[in-house]
Amino acid sequence: MDELAENTCIICGEPKSEGIHIVSEFICDACEAEMVHTDVQEAKYHFFIHRMRQIWVEKNA
Ligand SMILES: [Zn+2]
Repeated sequence: MDELAENTCIICGEPKSEGIHIVSEFICDACEAEMVHTDVQEAKYHFFIHRMRQIWVEKNA
């Protein structure tokens, strides 16, 4: 098992190899693609914001 090859997505919690890093956290391609559409899905938008805040709180605590 190569732990460097996969990152655990903070949104869906699944190990993925393709995605983006935000503040040392990882978001997979699928969730990133969903984030593009969150402007029309307010509930999901707030969910993502909540997750981002959690990251910032953890990183800046
Ligand atoms: Zn994901």
